[in-house]
Amino acid sequence: MSKKKKRSITVIKGGSLIDGTGAKQVKNAVVVVEDAKIMAVGKEADVDIPRNVKKTEINADGMTVMPGLIDSHLHLMGLKTDRILEEELIRPHQLGLIKSVFDAADLLDAGFTTVKDCGGFGIYLKRAMAEGTLRGPRILSSGYILSQTAGHGDIHYIPIEFVDARTTKRGMSLLCDGVSECIKAARYALREGADFIKICTSGGVMSMVDRPEHTQFTLEEIKAVVEEARHVGKYVTAHCQGTEAMKNSLKAGVKTIDHAFYPDDEVIEMAKKRKDVVFVPTLSIAWRIITEGEDAGYPLWAVAKGKEVWETMVKNIAKLYKAGLTIASATDFVGSPLLKMGTNAMELELLVKHCGFKPMDAIVVATRNGAKACGLENVTGTVQEGKLADVIVVDGDPLKDVKVLQDKNRIKMVMKEGKIEVRRGAKIS
Ligand SMILES: [Zn+2]
Repeated sequence: MSKKKKRSITVIKGGSLIDGTGAKQVKNAVVVVEDAKIMAVGKEADVDIPRNVKKTEINADGMTVMPGLIDSHLHLMGLKTDRILEEELIRPHQLGLIKSVFDAADLLDAGFTTVKDCGGFGIYLKRAMAEGTLRGPRILSSGYILSQTAGHGDIHYIPIEFVDARTTKRGMSLLCDGVSECIKAARYALREGADFIKICTSGGVMSMVDRPEHTQFTLEEIKAVVEEARHVGKYVTAHCQGTEAMKNSLKAGVKTIDHAFYPDDEVIEMAKKRKDVVFVPTLSIAWRIITEGEDAGYPLWAVAKGKEVWETMVKNIAKLYKAGLTIASATDFVGSPLLKMGTNAMELELLVKHCGFKPMDAIVVATRNGAKACGLENVTGTVQEGKLADVIVVDGDPLKDVKVLQDKNRIKMVMKEGKIEVRRGAKIS
């Protein structure tokens, strides 16, 4: 433990602190960072700043200091166009990997210090980051997506033998039917480095032959996948939109219910009993597709399905919020022009505007609760002693106008694990 090297700390001073727990804003706050972690935080008068150490000071006067943002469901697929379905067929897979490197950097530049890649190249990007090859947010990635035949991940308009990623070395779908195939697919995803298993337990908007309310996989199949994840200390995230799909997923022990269009009262009761469940709505993708999707080239059936679900979905998310359930913020963005990385803080605005979230709660959803959705609640998500120093300095008050978080130029500093990754005019001495 003992280090002879002279200690060096970073002190963020003078800003208003929103710590991500939902506690009241603290004016004139001090955050002391040593190595990767927060060693002290509080009102300037109450915090002892160590002397005789090498010190870097960040002046946050008049600005907001808060935890780095977390997007709890996106896809680091590096898409280039909004003709998503065609692009996946005609563009070499490798180009997606290259573009996703830049998408990851865009996320970090916009203040996102952790993202959850629910199917994409994240399993490789995180390793490249660990090697020091590229920069970006902390990534948790499933790499692959388990889907039943004729399910959300089955690209039904191409021959079935071209769908599964294990044989095609393209895409991210693992088609599996029956308990033993589900176990095998889960183990394949783990073999490739998945941090968690992603499964589609319902149909969806961007799949042509199924619908959000359709139920996919049996309870036994989902349970088998949850068990495989549990064996290695990991968890399952479900693409899950329909009511019955939510009940099956909750019964089977799925950790996060993503999209969550149609919860009923029974779903809410079941979720309350399972204290570890996180709901992860993705309003941003739906909003962009219903308002601009048609012009951007999305299939008309997808735009129509999006429009059909919107009103009910926002009411239902408001219901989950009022019921006091844990909700995390996510966009489902894929990197295309319409679903561009770096604009992900729009989800907070949509939650406030359409689902009645208080701005403070929207911030908690995009920080502390995001960490819960990633299984990192003991590690990051709040500006508290002992947590990793994932901190941003924002020019403006997101409690007055949550939109300030969408303006990259107002994100003056981004710190990830104690390292200043972005410095955009923040005074550092
Ligand atoms: Zn998704």
